Amino acid sequence: MTLMERPLPKNTFSRRTTVVCRGLIKTYGTRETAVTALRGIDLDIYTDELLMLAGPSGCGKTTLISVIAGILDHDSGDCRVFGRDFSRMRNSKKTRMRGETIGFVFQALNLLPALTAAENVAVPLLVNGVRWSQAIRQARAMLDRVGLADRERSLPAQLSGGQQQRVAIARALIHGPKLVVCDEPTSALDHETGHKVMQLLREVALGEGRSLVIVTHDARIFEFADRIARMDDGRIVSVDKGGRKDTANGPSLA
Ligand code: ADP
Ligand code: MG
Repeated sequence: MTLMERPLPKNTFSRRTTVVCRGLIKTYGTRETAVTALRGIDLDIYTDELLMLAGPSGCGKTTLISVIAGILDHDSGDCRVFGRDFSRMRNSKKTRMRGETIGFVFQALNLLPALTAAENVAVPLLVNGVRWSQAIRQARAMLDRVGLADRERSLPAQLSGGQQQRVAIARALIHGPKLVVCDEPTSALDHETGHKVMQLLREVALGEGRSLVIVTHDARIFEFADRIARMDDGRIVSVDKGGRKDTANGPSLA
C-alpha cells in the first residue's frame, strides 16, 4: 500500500466536516491514452465555509468536484461526503443521496432550452417527487431570492449570461442541499456581475450547516472565500485563508 492509499482514520469525520478526501486518485483512459487527473488529493471541507478550489486549466478541479459530488467514480483513496462513500453505493441509492444532499452548478450551466426559468429551477424538486404545481410555486420563490422574479416565464435564450447563471444557482439551491458545488460560476461574467453572483452565493448557499465549494481560476473573486485550496497537476499544493487580504496576486506581507 502506498502512502496515497492509506485508509481514512475512523474518527476523521466530525460534525464540522462535510467532505473528507484522502489520497484520491483518478485516471482517465487506459495505457497510452491515460491521463491521471488526481494524483493523491487530501482535502477537508468544513460546514459553514466557502472553500474555493483554484488552479490552472487542466489541473483537475472539475474532476475533483465531480468525484466529491458523486458524478464520477475515483480509482483509489477515500472520499466521504457527510460520512458516506458514494463510490460504494448502488446507482439508485447514489442518485437519491446526490439528489437530496448536493446542488451542482455546472460550468456550462446545462439549463434546458425548452423550459422556462421557473421550470428549469423546479427540476430538482420534480426529480425528488414534488408535485408540479408546488414545485413551480417554490421555484418562483427561489427566483425571487436571486432577483429574477420578473423573468420566471423567460426561456434561457431570452436571458443574459448573468441571469442564466442566477437561474442555474437557483436550480442548485431549490431543494435545500447541504453541499453546493459550482464550477467556475464567474468565468463568463464581467467583473461587476461576477461580484453580484458571488454575493448572492454567499447569501443563499451558506449558513445552517451548509458548505459551498467554488471552482475558479478568477483571482478577482478570492476575497469571497473562507479558504482557498490551490491545485496544480492533480495535487493540492496549498490551502490558505481567503478574505480580502488575499486578493492581491502575490505574498501579502503587510
Ligand atoms: P480543470 O477543471 O482544472 O480544468 P479537469 O479536471 O477538467 O481540469 O481535467 C484534468 C485533466 O484530466 C486534464 O488533463 C484533462 O484533459 C483530463 N480530462 C478531463 N476530463 C477527461 C475525460 N472525460 N477524458 C479524458 N481526459 C479528461
Ligand atoms: Mg474545469
